[in-house]
Amino acid sequence: MARYRESNCKLCRREGEKLFLKGSRCLSEKCAIERRQFPPGQHGQNMRRKVSAYGLQLREKQKVKRTYGLLEKQFRNYFKKAATATGVTGEQLLQMLERRLDNIVYRLGFAGSRKAARQLVRHRHITVNGRIVDIPSYQVRPNEVIRVKDKSKNLDLIHDSLKLGRGDDIPWLRLNKAALEGELLEVPKRTDIPLTANESLIVELYSK
Ligand code: SF4
Repeated sequence: MARYRESNCKLCRREGEKLFLKGSRCLSEKCAIERRQFPPGQHGQNMRRKVSAYGLQLREKQKVKRTYGLLEKQFRNYFKKAATATGVTGEQLLQMLERRLDNIVYRLGFAGSRKAARQLVRHRHITVNGRIVDIPSYQVRPNEVIRVKDKSKNLDLIHDSLKLGRGDDIPWLRLNKAALEGELLEVPKRTDIPLTANESLIVELYSK
């Protein structure tokens, strides 16, 4: 499957904010956004362009797409599904992205970044309701229990990540750190999704 292989920090610098793509480094002073607060590239420091309405919509879409580590085609497919679902399209879109298994593993704090969470899933360390699921895009349903497989419970990556305490205060997730287990309690409401994005701009962009 196609993947983005360039520098993750460049993506944050392009969007002008932290997208938390690199685990504990994002919380340290080594974060590229802390050190270089301008877009990447030769002309990054001198960039003073007036941003059009289209530019704003595009940047918002890129930001959300990059936050969840998706490529354009995958992201657009989520939008198409959200547009046909009942409810507010922007909220539906974010709910689908949040219910991805790799995202839930990240939100529970079992991995430092969504990329690391995706690797945990792909490498068959994660079970859903007792069965191994190795598909990062799997849509977790309410009351499904996500667990680190018994044989994988000693992985340093998981314990280091849990120390960051990310999964402790998300109201729609139940986390049992001792058992390395979590549960999706309900589909999250927009107000409970910790993401600074204006999803209505994405809807405007794709609705043209
Ligand atoms: Fe983004 Fe993390 Fe890199 Fe900072 S360290 S620029 S938050 S990926």
